[in-house]
Amino acid sequence: MIKFGDLKEIAMLGSGTFGRVALVKDTASGETFALKRMRKLAVMSTPEHIFCEQSITREVRHFACMRQHASFQDAHYLYFLFDYVEGCDLMDALAAVATVRSIRQPSKGVFGPKIKMLRGMRESQARYYVAAVTLALEYLHSCHIVYRDLKPENVLLSLDGAAKLGDFGFSKKLEKGSHTYTFCGTPGYVAPEVVLARGYGTSVDWWGLGVLTYVLLTGQQPFSQTVNGQPEDPLTVMKRIVDRSWTVSFPVY
Ligand code: ATP
Ligand code: MG
Repeated sequence: MIKFGDLKEIAMLGSGTFGRVALVKDTASGETFALKRMRKLAVMSTPEHIFCEQSITREVRHFACMRQHASFQDAHYLYFLFDYVEGCDLMDALAAVATVRSIRQPSKGVFGPKIKMLRGMRESQARYYVAAVTLALEYLHSCHIVYRDLKPENVLLSLDGAAKLGDFGFSKKLEKGSHTYTFCGTPGYVAPEVVLARGYGTSVDWWGLGVLTYVLLTGQQPFSQTVNGQPEDPLTVMKRIVDRSWTVSFPVY
């Protein structure tokens, strides 16, 4: 059993909404882990999310899902000890390969003007990550867990290229066949049934996977546009997600 007192902080890995994540070494075994620390006062507004993250990450056993090894608390903080994923996240990987290309629109003929377009990953690369996330989602859904926060920032990549779903802060275990109503997720990625709040199930993750695939291939979100380099207001984006007359545009490539 891992003891809190045996953990020695080595480096800071990142910070999130509720706290920070540090690289730690278990001095008893020599193993390294990622220790996520959250301030109790900060998580009190939505305690159910923390309870779900705690029970779900402790339960999941899948190579494409980040696993929790232990949890601790002291007077001010809650701590989760996760697998350490040494690498980057899928957004960093996308940013490293996304390029602006001059592409001619087929509809304008062979001598038509070229226009500058953002292009994301190669299709073969995107297919690999989408496949890993699909396996993770299939597994979670078979355990009646809905993930609810699919986005490139939440897919961690290790140095050997393996992809793991991390950050289970919005995931929830559903009663078999039941629905949930809570609005949560990330504006550009949420499914219409989440916005409409009429109850939803695991289908929202497949919508998220579609959005993720689009983002990996194009370097842009399907329902958001940048206005003068600034992201759009989340309400505008979510109105578009539920607007049946809005059509997603697909770049010519
Ligand atoms: P947010 O709600 O803003 O997404 P959060 O509080 O839920 O944040 P996480 O997303 O779990 O926190 O972690 C924050 C950052 O810490 C991640 O973006 C990642 O850079 C790093 N991180 C988290 N878990 C690990 C891990 N197991 N291995 C390596 N780095 C990690
Ligand atoms: Mg996160």
